[in-house]
Amino acid sequence: VKLTFLGTTGYINIKSRRHRWQTATLVSYRRTVVMLDCGSDWRSRVFDIAPTAIAITHAHADHMFGLKDGAPCPVWATETSWGIARGWRDVVEHRRDVREREPFSVGAMTLEAFACEHSVRAPAVGYRIEAGDVRIFYVPDLVRIVDAQTALRDLDMYVGDGAMISRSLIRRAADGTPVGHSSILRQVDWCAEYGVPRAVFTHCGTQIVRGDERTIGPRIHRYGAERGVATRIAHDGLEIVLV
Ligand SMILES: [Zn+2]
Ligand SMILES: [Zn+2]
Repeated sequence: VKLTFLGTTGYINIKSRRHRWQTATLVSYRRTVVMLDCGSDWRSRVFDIAPTAIAITHAHADHMFGLKDGAPCPVWATETSWGIARGWRDVVEHRRDVREREPFSVGAMTLEAFACEHSVRAPAVGYRIEAGDVRIFYVPDLVRIVDAQTALRDLDMYVGDGAMISRSLIRRAADGTPVGHSSILRQVDWCAEYGVPRAVFTHCGTQIVRGDERTIGPRIHRYGAERGVATRIAHDGLEIVLV
């Protein structure tokens, strides 16, 4: 199973050599390639990438708006995400509906969506992905996985939200729901709690993109190592092979 981090930025305006494109990730297993998220940066490029299928975490612009001109393959997304995309005529023919906790297959891979707190208008899911003996959880934007205990059990790798390093960015929506982003350190704590051996952070915020990764990277690595979690920051083009 191979993970390819095509892009690794969050919804920010600054870029760097290592973080130039919005977060999108390929998971490849045998001949199946699933593209996770397709933000506006990928609007024309998605046709060249030509994955087997696309799975969308939520309908924010940096995760779904690359599909406005259609898609080269089936697109899996929740009903609320499709609601935001309903005017995009060229993508409707590729529509596949994701329901929380109902696993679906793409080739030899299985994906299962878990509800996550992140946004009221664009509710997010994270995907638990199983391919061969490898199990990954992928969630680029979140405050919290509602059922983390089930989502993170027996994982080989957690791929999480790099918007904030040590301080979470969370506010309450009008109905009291927390929205925003939990910090990297908080997510590493979850990995430690649920015995996840490796964590990689994508969807990098300004702290990482503008900051000095020669100091930020080792700091995050050390925090993880103290808790038994091999932790690193992804960059555009990074490939990780899991067996
Ligand atoms: Zn985002
Ligand atoms: Zn978002």
